[in-house]
Amino acid sequence: MLERSYFDWNATAPLRAEARAAFAEALLVPGNPSSVHAEGRAARRLIETAREEVAELAGARPGDVFFTSSGTEANMLALTPVVEVAGDKRPRSKLLLSAIEHVSVRAGGRFARDAVEEVPVDTQGRLDLAALADAVAKSPRALVSLMLANNETGVIQPVAAAAGIVHAAGGLIHVDAVQAMGRIDCDMAELGADLMTLSAHKIGGPKGVGALLRRSDDIHIPDPLIRGGGQERGLRAGTENVAGIAAFGAAAAVARRQRAAEASHMLALRDRLEAGLQAIAPGAVIFGAKAERLPNTTLFTVPGMKAETAVIAFDLEGVAVSSGAACSSGKVQPSHVLAAMGVLPPLTHGAVRVSLGWSTTAADIESFLNAWRKLASALSRGQPSAAA
Ligand code: PLP
Repeated sequence: MLERSYFDWNATAPLRAEARAAFAEALLVPGNPSSVHAEGRAARRLIETAREEVAELAGARPGDVFFTSSGTEANMLALTPVVEVAGDKRPRSKLLLSAIEHVSVRAGGRFARDAVEEVPVDTQGRLDLAALADAVAKSPRALVSLMLANNETGVIQPVAAAAGIVHAAGGLIHVDAVQAMGRIDCDMAELGADLMTLSAHKIGGPKGVGALLRRSDDIHIPDPLIRGGGQERGLRAGTENVAGIAAFGAAAAVARRQRAAEASHMLALRDRLEAGLQAIAPGAVIFGAKAERLPNTTLFTVPGMKAETAVIAFDLEGVAVSSGAACSSGKVQPSHVLAAMGVLPPLTHGAVRVSLGWSTTAADIESFLNAWRKLASALSRGQPSAAA
């Protein structure tokens, strides 16, 4: 079989060896973490160790980490009109989102549709801070949700500046750090985040585990999504996914230790990839190229290319890339992120996302560029298989 090169790390990262080992070990612990006997306490210990590791990765305190079933669930949990701060129980009537949020934030959580308002981004895909200031001036107590890095373009958002604006008005800010965590420095306090979402499978943990973090214990969500046995201090009922959480913790510990080295490894390879990409097709456009981006992400197109056919062409050459967001793969729709950046069809239909990770090699970059050379040459000859 053809050796494959995986360039879809923003959809999901491979499981780290340390996470796999922690998962396997945790499966052997028979107890329920809520039980008081030794078996139960052993399971509880695994969860609390993981809580410490995840907290440390985000610069939070363990008591402010709540495990969920996914980043999606953490977003849904956070986006509620009733987030109490220091005992203030007044509901918030407005949810402000950047126009480039992940679908799990765009869905608006538990806010009514007409209570959700979008704040625009510039042509590089960065939040428009002046527009945010205008929006919070009209809705000073709004809950604002802003991602730290975009999943399609990798563009890093001005979260600390946004948090300053939101707090000055009397609002609250939730930060979806799912794509940024482990790739850039993400310290909750430095960012000024009140709430933060993480997902295990983007940092080398298993799929189906996430976490919601809060700035401090004066923040309280009184209305959980899942009620029952009171697990996760009442915020998320249901017997915990002990193995998944233990593996999340193990992945978080590695991600924290290796973040700087992995980021420079990815950046060097990504720079090589982009230089090669444009040398082969000088007309290639890299979206958000003038903005600060994650070290691992490139979203690009060339005029005339169709994303679905390009993804298939790469796949046949042993190279896994994606057309924009993973959630919309399969049913390819024009990206709301590119539309928000002012990119017009047909260019929006041709965007291909290449995302790297810690185990990407120089040979993978060569495989990508070889496949791209073939595809770009077919495109320049106007071959229907590539241009469709
Ligand atoms: N937020 C962002 C920015 C994402 O990219 C994703 C997943 O792609 C999510 C949230 C959802 O996370 P999960 O897959 O754990 O539900």
